[in-house]
Amino acid sequence: MASATNSKAETSAAKHARPFAYKNGESVRPFLQPYAYKARDLMNCTVASFYELSDDQLAPHQRRAKEGFIKLFNRRLKVPTAELHETRLYSTLKKLMRHIDEFFFFGSLTHDLQSPIRRLALTHFPPEADLLGRCCLINTDDGLPGFEISLEKYEDYKGHKLVDLPNLVHTLIHELTHAFLEGFCCHCSQCKRNDINAVGMEFTGHGPIFRGMHYAVMVCMADWSAELDKVSRGCSNDTYIETFSLSAEKSEIEDMEKNGTLKKMGMRPYIRNPSRRLLIWTSEHRIFIDVKRLRTHVRRTAMSVSATSAKRTSTKRKRDDEGPFVRNTRVQTEDAVTFLRRLVDLNSRGEERFARVPELPWWGRDL
Ligand SMILES: [Zn+2]
Ligand SMILES: [Zn+2]
Repeated sequence: MASATNSKAETSAAKHARPFAYKNGESVRPFLQPYAYKARDLMNCTVASFYELSDDQLAPHQRRAKEGFIKLFNRRLKVPTAELHETRLYSTLKKLMRHIDEFFFFGSLTHDLQSPIRRLALTHFPPEADLLGRCCLINTDDGLPGFEISLEKYEDYKGHKLVDLPNLVHTLIHELTHAFLEGFCCHCSQCKRNDINAVGMEFTGHGPIFRGMHYAVMVCMADWSAELDKVSRGCSNDTYIETFSLSAEKSEIEDMEKNGTLKKMGMRPYIRNPSRRLLIWTSEHRIFIDVKRLRTHVRRTAMSVSATSAKRTSTKRKRDDEGPFVRNTRVQTEDAVTFLRRLVDLNSRGEERFARVPELPWWGRDL
């Protein structure tokens, strides 16, 4: 019995890479391997690298990113929304995105031509989509994970009222969190079977790991900008667990439970009340980060960032399941989940390998 357990642990350890964490304010970024880490390990190590750290405990590039974000965000806040949309909105979002990535995600999403975020777009979604933003997996020539992030420009379907900067940035953070988890979490069948208790369901992706990661980012940014914090609190009833995201996730779980898909896919049961021993504990109503234990755990288990880990040393990993895929944000109604599902169905029947949204007006550019 003991040897069976050991061999299972060994197989698991061999299959999943050890995530990185900044342990001593390192000045070098790690190079993360695509599709390599167990979701919870990745969340723990990433959160430990920024959560409740004072400025002098941060890596130098994290400090610069934080300063850069706050300075630019505050400067652009003074520009009236309509004027900003007409002038420097796109370049502002692009710069803010790089700062967010550098601070929270090891710069792994945007700082290299082959980084996962390949395109950022400002768009106007069709009314039935009911979306504020979307993170969509795209086909890349290099076989590495690539995403297109689209942000809704208008607050209303008719396109009269423009979305202001704090709301756009809030949605951008949400989509970057999706891209980070989708691009670097393992997609082996063992991990996918537990998606319901990890990254989240196929179409919504707002599972406990997503919520824990996103919570840590939003709480941390509360000190950066009161305006941004107001948006985070407003869409989460002050809990930093987005109401719409959670309800979309739950409705997808219920649907799949009802139609037997969960059973057919061999998914693990949904754990409504997870163990209190978890370092980042995520329920549907509250999230608690045990900072002291998290730091001790990460110091012991995470890879240290060193010059060699900063190089691209990994072999290309492929997702087990390369089916069509769409991640959406803050879906506001159950209909929107149905819409996305239909969209993927349509695309999977077509020639395209990955789900792509039908032609939309957009103002994006390749990065
Ligand atoms: Zn796995
Ligand atoms: Zn989302």
